[in-house]
Amino acid sequence: MADKLYVGVDVGSSATKVVIVNGKGTVLGKALEQSGMDFVAASKTALERAVNDAGASIDDVAHITSSGYGRKNVEFANDTKTEIACHARGAYQHFREAMTIVDIGGQDNKIIKIGADGNRLDFKMNRKCAAGTGAFLEEIARRMNVDMSEMDALARKSEEIVTISSFCTVFAATEILSLIRQGAQTRDIAKGAFRSVVKRVIEMDSLAGKAVATGGVVSHNPIVLELMAESIGHEVLTPPEPQFSGALGAALYAVDEARQ
Ligand code: ADP
Repeated sequence: MADKLYVGVDVGSSATKVVIVNGKGTVLGKALEQSGMDFVAASKTALERAVNDAGASIDDVAHITSSGYGRKNVEFANDTKTEIACHARGAYQHFREAMTIVDIGGQDNKIIKIGADGNRLDFKMNRKCAAGTGAFLEEIARRMNVDMSEMDALARKSEEIVTISSFCTVFAATEILSLIRQGAQTRDIAKGAFRSVVKRVIEMDSLAGKAVATGGVVSHNPIVLELMAESIGHEVLTPPEPQFSGALGAALYAVDEARQ
């Protein structure tokens, strides 16, 4: 008989992630779709693709838990859990110790502290502005006419320090234009943009103790981990597939819920 499937759907403001696990919490499949304007369509497509990836059928799905900014839009979910709970659960599944989790997403940052038993001790969230988030980096990349997927490699070629003093995305975009006019290199501006994101995150929390980073920004731009480690003076780890950490947490909650 086919494994029963437990599904976590994390509808982020930028990307919708689905993770499918079996009853033991082993990952069987996953998928990512841009959330776009229609969260319902994105979550449906991502679910279908993840079920395919698991080589299974939708009829094998036992429980679906949704999470993330758009979690209430997932009409086919059996229940919902907050992003904070799911990110904590997803990261704890891999590390199983006390830590501070930094999730850098498309439009918000979360800092979650959990104890040795995985219980949440504290959290902070920045959802007020795009500063320090993936959206900030995307805007800088757009202004420089560089694809976001090339930003990490570009920044690694940097030879001179360029500081972007405006945290605000709107002001930073203007600042970039003036830096380019003054002859600054895109590689140095790219690194400056990553440094700006790290500075903003560190301002939220000093990241003392074990630090773990998740989300799409660190997943695709590992330079952020290196710059963060440089800033705080100790290493910053990531779980496997850090962009799927919240969806994994939601899938693990789906296993628990189905048992109740
Ligand atoms: P959310 O959960 O808020 O939707 P994610 O954690 O999925 O956000 O992260 C989305 C961010 O990840 C984007 O804003 C972008 O900065 C970054 N990102 C996503 N895909 C890529 C890519 N291919 N290359 C570089 N950065 C990427």
